[in-house]
Amino acid sequence: MRKVYIIGAGPGDPELLTVKAKKLLTEYAEVVVHDRLISAEILNLIPKNVERIFAGKEPELHYMKQEDINIELVNHARAGKKVVRLKGGDPFIFGRGGEEAEYLKENNIDHEIVPGITAAMGGAAEYLIPLTYRGVADGAILITGHNCKDEIPALDYEYLAKTNNTIVIYMGIKNIGIITAKLIESGKNPETPACAVFNATYESSGIIYSTLAVLAQEIKASGRANPAVIYIGDVVKISQRLA
Ligand code: SAH
Repeated sequence: MRKVYIIGAGPGDPELLTVKAKKLLTEYAEVVVHDRLISAEILNLIPKNVERIFAGKEPELHYMKQEDINIELVNHARAGKKVVRLKGGDPFIFGRGGEEAEYLKENNIDHEIVPGITAAMGGAAEYLIPLTYRGVADGAILITGHNCKDEIPALDYEYLAKTNNTIVIYMGIKNIGIITAKLIESGKNPETPACAVFNATYESSGIIYSTLAVLAQEIKASGRANPAVIYIGDVVKISQRLA
C-alpha cells in the first residue's frame, strides 16, 4: 500500500509551502483531501487529473465529520491510491492531524507528516511580532479559544495572567471577550498590548493593535472575520515599532 502523506500547507502564501509539500502535491498525489483554509493558489498547484476531496470545516458548520475524513483516507489508500491529506498551517497544531495519524496507524497504513508553517508563525513574521524576544518574553504559549465541545477551554488563567510568555490564541474570535475578561480578573494588566492578525500571509491580511482591556470590542467594531490569530504580550509593542 502507498504511503499517506499528511502535509501542512502553511498559512496561505504559496511561497511558504515547503519544498517537500510542493513536490508531493505536484508529483506524488493521486488524491488530495483538503481543508477549507487552503489558499486558492496552493490548490491551483494540484494537477488537473488529481482527484480533490473537500473536507472543509467551517466554524459551527461541519461539512465532513472527522471520522468520515479518516475513513476516506483509509479507503483511498486501500484502493492503492497515493493519498495526500492537505491541511492548513501545520498538521499538528490544532489541525487534528494527530487523530488522522492515529487512525492510519490503527489501520496499518504507512504515513508520514510533513510540517507546515503554522498560522501563529505566519502572522508573527508578517507583522514583525518577535514571539520570544529576549528579555521581554521567556516563551510563547499556543492555546485554542474553544475546545472540541465548543466550550471555552478550561485554561489556567492565573498562570497565563502572571507568566510573561506571549499568549497566542487560535480560533479565538468568538470567545475573545470572555478570555480577555478572565485574564484581567486573574490579575493580568488590562493595558497589556494585544493584537489580532486576520488572514495572515494573504493579500487581504490585516492587523488590529489594541490592549487586553479593549481588544474584544475593537475586533468586533472592525467587522473583520475569521481566520485570525490573537497575540497578547509585551512583544506586540515591538511589532508596533517595527511593522
Ligand atoms: N493547523 C492550523 C490551525 C488550524 S485551526 C495551523 O497550524 O495554522 C484554525 C485556526 O487557525 C483559525 O481559527 C485561526 O485561528 C488560525 N488560522 C489559520 N490560518 C490562518 C491565517 N491565514 N490567518 C490567521 N489565522 C489563521
